[in-house]
Amino acid sequence: MLCNYHTHTKRCHHAVGEDREYVENAIKTGIQVLGFSDHPPYIFDDGCNSCYRIDFNMIDDYCNSVLSLKKEYARDIDIKLGFELEYYRGLHEREMKFLRSYNPDYIILGQHYVGGEDTGVHTYAFSNEQLLTLYVDECIEGLQTGDFTFLAHPDLAGFRCPSSVCEREYTRLLAFAKDNDFPIELNGYGLNMQRHYPDRRLFELAEKIGNKVIIGIDAHDPSNICPQTYQKAYALIKGLNLNIINKLDI
Ligand SMILES: [Zn+2]
Ligand SMILES: [Zn+2]
Repeated sequence: MLCNYHTHTKRCHHAVGEDREYVENAIKTGIQVLGFSDHPPYIFDDGCNSCYRIDFNMIDDYCNSVLSLKKEYARDIDIKLGFELEYYRGLHEREMKFLRSYNPDYIILGQHYVGGEDTGVHTYAFSNEQLLTLYVDECIEGLQTGDFTFLAHPDLAGFRCPSSVCEREYTRLLAFAKDNDFPIELNGYGLNMQRHYPDRRLFELAEKIGNKVIIGIDAHDPSNICPQTYQKAYALIKGLNLNIINKLDI
């Protein structure tokens, strides 16, 4: 059974295509559960404008569109309403209260910044040990809230520190995920964009630790939803004995 819980829409300003095209490509690819997980507006103290999230005045449109496609395509595919969210201590409860009012099926943790968003550092952009440690701390603290279903692109921070440090920090993250039964994602967007993630080294650790691994297409274009994304994902982890899961219990 093929499932994909990581799908964006054009409302986040860095994805393209119509919602319906994502659904139709998923059906063509043989996907049976398709979760939309766009970046929701984040309520900061000074407002919620963001160049990479759904605008505040478009969130109803997002939810209504997903729910209406869910009805329309109910015979062909099971569509879920979700979000991809960062964990920012101090802002999280207010944000969750806002998101819960939309009754999402699930929320995935994508920690794109560390140390908050306005004063913090983009997870791509750091290269020192302290920031990697902070990244792992924040991912763990976020997952501990119980509000997230799985961890998107755990290797977003990359393997830029000395390998002993990366191994120590990613082992800490993966051990927490394993002990608390959170799947970690093998991210298809990184594969399609040829980014520094997903990184085979992380999945070598996941093999040792015994993590559940979920393949997330992280579609930002309907054409990302295709058999080739899965082929690339399986090529990356060839030879590893991983516990790949498909359907989430949501
Ligand atoms: Zn992400
Ligand atoms: Zn994403």
